[in-house]
Amino acid sequence: MTVSHWQRAEQEEREVDFLVVGAGLAGCAAAYIAKHVHSRDVVITDARDVALGASGRNAGFMISGLDTYYHRAIECYGHKVAREVWAMSERSFGLWRECIENSPFDVPIDNCGSMLLAETQAEAKELELAARALDDDKIDIEYYSRDPLGRGYLAGIEQPLDAGVQPYLLVKSIMAQCGAEFIPNNELYRLVHKDNYVRVHTRKVIFKAQYVMLCTNAYSPNIDPFFYGKVLPTRAQCFVTEPLDHVPVPYCGYSDYGYMYYRSTFDGRFLLGGGRKQFRDEEDDTTEDRLNPKIQAWLDDYLKKYFPDVTAPVAHRWSGIMGFSCDGLPLAGTLPDRSRIGFAVGFTGHGLALAGATAERAVDRLLNGVSAGAVDVSRFE
Ligand SMILES: Cc1cc2nc3c(=O)[nH]c(=O)nc-3n(C[C@H](O)[C@H](O)[C@H](O)COP(=O)(O)OP(=O)(O)OC[C@H]3O[C@@H](n4cnc5c(N)ncnc54)[C@H](O)[C@@H]3O)c2cc1C
Repeated sequence: MTVSHWQRAEQEEREVDFLVVGAGLAGCAAAYIAKHVHSRDVVITDARDVALGASGRNAGFMISGLDTYYHRAIECYGHKVAREVWAMSERSFGLWRECIENSPFDVPIDNCGSMLLAETQAEAKELELAARALDDDKIDIEYYSRDPLGRGYLAGIEQPLDAGVQPYLLVKSIMAQCGAEFIPNNELYRLVHKDNYVRVHTRKVIFKAQYVMLCTNAYSPNIDPFFYGKVLPTRAQCFVTEPLDHVPVPYCGYSDYGYMYYRSTFDGRFLLGGGRKQFRDEEDDTTEDRLNPKIQAWLDDYLKKYFPDVTAPVAHRWSGIMGFSCDGLPLAGTLPDRSRIGFAVGFTGHGLALAGATAERAVDRLLNGVSAGAVDVSRFE
């Protein structure tokens, strides 16, 4: 969106040291690191409010690694990168746990682990290969050659260090602890890089910032053409049932190569999400945050097939927009020829695993020029 000549009359001008744009998981983590590790004076701003994007809409799975099974990650990116990105998810979890421990209010977290499940024989074979690769790297998992849940799946991998969290409260808690001033309802519409500062045009304020960190994930291509084709907006769908009298899956359950996910919520409901694989032409490449009736009906059928004991009606349905990266790895770096504008984006549906460590590296890259390693955008050069 732009700002009209008439609206501009209300804009104030203001100098800031470190400006974060986007108040989701990545933005709040970047603000927290910039303030507490690098002692910067931080302002964070958002077009809407805190955690109204994907960060407050996700399923809350703290599930390690990338959205692809571990042996496939090794094939695709090499062993060093696959291991490094796994370690990044451990680092992100460390950050979230630190914030939860010190939180001024309760942030529910369930250290239930996750269970990756196979829906077909082909996927069962994939899980066996993934389990071997994880074992070889001494990563703590348990492999099941049969359905560990007795629900019609064919194999499983339990990752005991994973967890389920209340994602909206997690982001609000990081915001409460990040030590930054927050300006909501303030969309950024133009960035002008000067030699020793950045002019940041937002709805309410024109900032003169020493440094800018873009944490605008799926919406990044709207901000700068550099992100065209690198960050792909992708819609996701979910629902929760009314409360149940039992726990259908005592883990964060994840199957069909991550296209399906399910867990119990902290108030005893069953959450089911996914179904995008069958309707990719409708869900890919859109920032339109709306329910897709076809996918929601597909999720209803999935519930009946795998969880016939969950008879409570669906209480609430929602959607959200994720930022997928073009090669599946997050992107951290600075814009070409604009070294004062950094970014941490493109978490490909695994922001709880990757946004914390990526934001940490992106801040170090922006302030000190330190490479962000496996997630550094220089891989596209
Ligand atoms: C339904 C669903 C389920 C998911 N499940 C999981 C899961 O279980 N586990 C997991 O790890 N991940 C999951 N994800 C993905 C996860 O939510 C994201 O990876 C993560 O939230 C990304 O965080 P972010 O801060 O980068 O983006 P966002 O939370 O989307 O934040 C971006 C922010 O930028 C702001 N913004 C954009 N443009 C502008 C602008 N021009 N000016 C100012 N502000 C702007 C937006 O308003 C928004 O607040 C799921 C996502 C969805 C939608």
